[in-house]
Amino acid sequence: MEFYLKCSLKTSANPAAAKAAVETIMNQAETGLLAKGAPAGEGAKIKSWSLDDNRIHIELTSGKHVRVHDALMRLKKSISEALGKEKIGVRGVEVEKFTIVVSSAHDLKNKTIPYVKSVFFDEIQKILCLELDVGEAEMKNQVPDRILTLIEDKLEQGDYGAKAEHWNLLWESEDRPFSYTADPTEDMLKLGWLKRGSGRGQWIHGPVSTKLFRTFEKIVVDEILNPLGYNEMIFPKMVMWDIWKHSGHAKGIYPEIYYVCPPKTRDPAYWEDVMDYYKVTKEVPVELIKTKIGDPIGGMCYAQCPPCWGFFQGETISKDSLPIAVFDRSGTSHRYESGGIHGIERVDEFHRIELVWIGTKEQVVETTQKLHERYMHIFNDILDLKWRKAWVTPWFMAQEGIAGIAADEVTGTTDYEAPLPYRGKDGEWLEFQNVSINGDKYPSGFNVKCQTGEQLWSGCSGVGLERWTATFLAQHGLDPDNWPAEFKKRFGEMPKIVKFL
Ligand code: ATP
Ligand code: ZN
Ligand code: MG
Ligand code: MG
Ligand code: MG
Repeated sequence: MEFYLKCSLKTSANPAAAKAAVETIMNQAETGLLAKGAPAGEGAKIKSWSLDDNRIHIELTSGKHVRVHDALMRLKKSISEALGKEKIGVRGVEVEKFTIVVSSAHDLKNKTIPYVKSVFFDEIQKILCLELDVGEAEMKNQVPDRILTLIEDKLEQGDYGAKAEHWNLLWESEDRPFSYTADPTEDMLKLGWLKRGSGRGQWIHGPVSTKLFRTFEKIVVDEILNPLGYNEMIFPKMVMWDIWKHSGHAKGIYPEIYYVCPPKTRDPAYWEDVMDYYKVTKEVPVELIKTKIGDPIGGMCYAQCPPCWGFFQGETISKDSLPIAVFDRSGTSHRYESGGIHGIERVDEFHRIELVWIGTKEQVVETTQKLHERYMHIFNDILDLKWRKAWVTPWFMAQEGIAGIAADEVTGTTDYEAPLPYRGKDGEWLEFQNVSINGDKYPSGFNVKCQTGEQLWSGCSGVGLERWTATFLAQHGLDPDNWPAEFKKRFGEMPKIVKFL
C-alpha cells in the first residue's frame, strides 16, 4: 500500500527568509517528526521539497503508518512555527495530487466514492490506484483513512465471495424420524389457520396460529424471562438514521429496509388534489404522492435491539444496576426479503421477542451461558425438536473486529437451526433464532459507560415466532394429537375456527 501527496503550503510572504530553518526541519523529519508512532523505518518519506515566491512545495510518500496527510499536518505545524519567527504566516494547503495504491486481485464495482476522482485497476501489476480530490479539511477529518478502510472492506468482502459466513457446528440433537413431511404453511392455509396479507411476505394470522405464537411467547416468559430476571421494555419500531449510525447498521442495511417518509405537511388543503384524484378515479395517485412526501427519515424496525440503545445512550450506569437484562415484544420487524420469501418462515413482516443484556464482559458471558441452557431445555424438553447450534460469524463482524479472534473467542453469533422435513433429507436448515455476544460494539457506539470505568459489553437474542412456528409444525405436523405433551399442556384448547362458505 502506498500513499502519495503532492501539495504546497501557501505563505503570506516569500519564505526564502526562513530557508535555513525549513531545511533543518526537512532534513530531520524522516527520522523524527515523520517517524513518530511508526515501526522503525516505516514512517512517511519526503520525496522532494522546494521554496517558491509564495509557497513551499512538498512531495510525500508513505505506507500505512504516519500517512501522508498526517505527515503533512505535522510538517505544517513545525514549518508554521519556523516561519512565524520571520513574521511569515502559512495561509493553507493546496493539494495538487493525492493517490492511494493498494494491491488487489480485481477491480472495484462501484467507482463513485465520495472524494475519489478516479479509480484505475492495473491488471498486470494487480494494483488499484485511487486519485483523491481532498483539501486540508478532508485530510484533517481523516477522509483518506476512511476511503482506505472502505476499499479494504470491499476487497475483503470480495475475497469472502459466496461464503459470507463461516459456520461451525457446536451441538446437535439426536437424529429422529419425521412422520409429517408436508409444508406446514400450505396445510395451515388449507385448514384456514391464516391468510395472505395484502403486502408481500405478510400474513394475517387467525386464532390458531396466533395462539401458537402466544404459547411460544408464554414459554419464553415462563422458562427464560421470569426465572432469569428479564424486564420488559418497549423499543421504538420506526428507526431513525441516527440510531443506525450509532449501531453500525447505516453501513449496509439499505437493500433490506422498508423506508419511512413523513408527509411534507398535514395541511388537508395540500393533499386535496390527492384526495380528489382518488375520489374520481378510485386509484391512489402514487406518483403525485411521491412529490408530497419528505425525505426518508429512517426505516421500519429491522434488528429490533438498536433503538433500545437510545435509552442508555450517553449515560453512565451504576455498577449495582448491572447486569441489565431486558426484552421487547412490542411490535413487528420488517425486511425486504425480495425473492427469498417463503411460507411463514421467510416473510417481510415478522414477530420477534428480542432479549438484550448489558454488563461487564464476565456478566455478559455468564448471562449468555444461562440463556443457552434455558433454550436447550425448551427445545429438548418442551418442544421436542430436532435442532442444532452453530457458531456463525458474518464477514462484516470479522472486519469490525468483533468476531471471535485469537485472544477473545466469545464475541460473535450462535445460530439455532432446525431441519424442515418437507425440504427433504438434504434440505437447507432453518435459522429459527440466534444468540449474539456483541462485545463492546453497542456500548461504545452509543457511548454508554460503567460507573467503575470497566468496559461494558452486551448481547442480544432474537426469538423469531414465525420461525419457531414453522419449525415446530414442520416437525410435528398440525394435528394437536401429535404435539409433545409438554407443549399441548401449555397450548390448551384449540380455538374455534372461522368457517367460510
Ligand atoms: P436468515 O439467515 O434466515 O436470513 P438472519 O440471519 O438474516 O436470518 P437475523 O438478522 O439474525 O436473521 O435476525 C434474528 C432472527 O430474526 C432470526 O434468527 C429469525 O428468527 C428472525 N428473522 C430474521 N429474518 C426473518 C424473516 N425474514 N422472516 C421471519 N423471521 C426472520
Ligand atoms: Zn439484537
Ligand atoms: Mg436474513
Ligand atoms: Mg442468518
Ligand atoms: Mg442471523
